[in-house]
Amino acid sequence: MKTLHPDYRFHRIWEITPEWLRQRGIEVLLLDVDNTLTTHNNPNVPPQVEGWISSMREAGVKLLILSNNKAGRVAPFAEGLGLGWVARAAKPLGHGVRRACRTLGTSQPQLAIIGDQIFTDVLCGRWAGITSILVDPMEQETFLFFRLKRWLERKVLQDWKGGDA
Ligand SMILES: [Mg+2]
Repeated sequence: MKTLHPDYRFHRIWEITPEWLRQRGIEVLLLDVDNTLTTHNNPNVPPQVEGWISSMREAGVKLLILSNNKAGRVAPFAEGLGLGWVARAAKPLGHGVRRACRTLGTSQPQLAIIGDQIFTDVLCGRWAGITSILVDPMEQETFLFFRLKRWLERKVLQDWKGGDA
């Protein structure tokens, strides 16, 4: 079960500060889209996310969108925010992370992946050997498949004692 544990957890992505990242040597963030930066298929982000992206930019933290969703969803969303993107990343598989490393010219210790799903985002971070940060999903899914996944995630997190707290 430990393999499925995130290194850190936050309620919302905008609670992560540049200072917190600096203390851990993290310089690049790979960002999930749906239910992490915004709700499913929403082309816009909440004002808190806009402010958070600006503060990361000012602090020199590099951001890259890494989504399993298709380019038709990911490209206009990322470009609207002025961010680079990788669509159909096939998380939890690691090739999207490796591609990101090459594109950005960074190494694994400087990277963190942020997302709302254990079986895609967190596992991807684990397999790629980078820091994983789990956020709470922005909204509840209604599909049965998703509800089953969320139930399994709760089981996994029952004995989570990670983070610095
Ligand atoms: Mg997601």
